[in-house]
Amino acid sequence: MPADATTAAARARALHADALVWDAHSCLPLKPDADFDDLLRHRASGVDYVSINVGMDMNPVADVIRVIAGFRASLAARPVDFVLAGTVAELRQAKRDGRLAVSFDLEGSLPLAGDLAMVGLYRELGVRQMHLVYNRNNAVGGGCHDLDLGLTGYGRQVVAEINRVGILMDCSHAGERTSLEIMEVSTKPVVFSHANPRALVEHGRNISDAQIDACAASGGVIGINGVGLFLGDPAAGTPAILRHLDYVLQRVGPGHVGIGLDYSFGAVGEDVPDGGDAAYWWPPEAGYDFATVRFAEPEQFPEITEGLLTLGLDEGEIRGVLGENFARVAEATWV
Ligand SMILES: [Zn+2]
Repeated sequence: MPADATTAAARARALHADALVWDAHSCLPLKPDADFDDLLRHRASGVDYVSINVGMDMNPVADVIRVIAGFRASLAARPVDFVLAGTVAELRQAKRDGRLAVSFDLEGSLPLAGDLAMVGLYRELGVRQMHLVYNRNNAVGGGCHDLDLGLTGYGRQVVAEINRVGILMDCSHAGERTSLEIMEVSTKPVVFSHANPRALVEHGRNISDAQIDACAASGGVIGINGVGLFLGDPAAGTPAILRHLDYVLQRVGPGHVGIGLDYSFGAVGEDVPDGGDAAYWWPPEAGYDFATVRFAEPEQFPEITEGLLTLGLDEGEIRGVLGENFARVAEATWV
């Protein structure tokens, strides 16, 4: 290996170890007794914080609450490895202590059961990031795999309540019109925790330039997703992730880009509750086939840092992409 390549690899390793590394979305099996040893793969890959899904629009509220209870107990039982973090200061402290900081996200607003007061309750339980819609229309607005009729009057109330109690507003999985309307009315920066540019891969789950621009204009961050189907690379390789990162970097600048790999530790199809219809939530015509779809793995995080060094960013900008951009938005939101 030439000397400059060795130097570049060493520089990437040092930067990766020192930077705050933020994975904006990952999924353990939606079971109260899910094995938290899985998350040690994040820590071993230099990740300092990960947002873990606790339920989607398809999951009944009672199941979501049981999952939160189980996950909280698992985290509390492993104080050497994990901390349930509620503030950016807590997750920075966790990094200094060598622990992985975790908080929860909801993929959809049906777990609110139509009651605005539930937003604050979920926050008390550890939820720090929330979609309003998951693929299909609900009482709040339109999903990305449905006929998007826009944000409803109730939806506007939900946005206001999420702003008020201090949860990161996440437009991933929402329809284009609904997401643009959410970003219009939100008083805080809005994120796409895991969504890729549609300009590179035409897929309903990917987002348009207008959505990317509106997210950046809100002060928010677009987290690049590691699902092969959305990357246009069945192998979900790091070069594809870097292509998507670079597109958003070129479009809206390094202050509005992050990473939400969306790695799923379990079989995604098993998260559908009894009696649920996987084909409704993940339409086969959109290419969903969880037997073959690949997810980028946490172990790719160090490779991403190495790749970012080749994209012409300075060190501060790379730290932004790796975690400081999401941290900035969380600091402005989790108050
Ligand atoms: Zn998702």
